[in-house]
Amino acid sequence: MEDNMSAPTHNTTRRRTLKQGRLTELLARREQVGTAWAERASHGPPGLGDLTRELTIIEFALTEQWPHLAQSWLPAWVISDARKLHDPSTKTDGTCGICRSSTRQAAA
Ligand SMILES: [Zn+2]
Repeated sequence: MEDNMSAPTHNTTRRRTLKQGRLTELLARREQVGTAWAERASHGPPGLGDLTRELTIIEFALTEQWPHLAQSWLPAWVISDARKLHDPSTKTDGTCGICRSSTRQAAA
């Protein structure tokens, strides 16, 4: 999605590229931390508070800098994280790093 509010001079184009890079980086980081958060929340080891804090900081940075995109991000993030929540006592999740490492340990 492009916003064409202002004619891009060399300078604003460069700034936009930098900001775009930061956006991509933050979204990737948010996805990574969101996944780690859902895995921790499912398995219940310590560290969930730290992940929740990190996730909040990343989401705040994203929604503050790109408020026009936040409306579509917020529900997507909630759904994405909720889908990764699972009960490891009834079902292991193939995409979950903690499940995968405990399966490996059980097989060894
Ligand atoms: Zn798991």
